[in-house]
Amino acid sequence: MNASKLRQEIGLLNKERSKLLDRVIRPGRMVKGSLYQMGRSCGNPNCKCCKYAKKHVSWYLSRGMEGKTKLTYVGRIVPSWLADSVKRYQHHQKLLARIRKADARISDGLNQLRDAMVQTIEEARRKHQ
Ligand SMILES: [Zn+2]
Repeated sequence: MNASKLRQEIGLLNKERSKLLDRVIRPGRMVKGSLYQMGRSCGNPNCKCCKYAKKHVSWYLSRGMEGKTKLTYVGRIVPSWLADSVKRYQHHQKLLARIRKADARISDGLNQLRDAMVQTIEEARRKHQ
């Protein structure tokens, strides 16, 4: 790719990145993790879960913490404030990933632009003679 085409592409990527930044710079409060349902037995031999193998289904919040996965009991239903907060976190993570991707492409483009503009001392000398 020639230098002017590269400049054009880098400029477009930078605009895209700038728009993404506007969207992530003021995130609302978020709760990190993902929600999922899990069934378990309570251990009571007279309960339906033991008698009929019908497990108690509840929601849990799972998130990585210091290299481990931490599970927190939420309940039979997920309150909407929690569902929204978790959704915001997940959306925010996606936007951050897009910014990092744009950064990598910008950096790559800048390297290509530099390489397109680099000439050897011999080439530079020839032009100045
Ligand atoms: Zn039970």
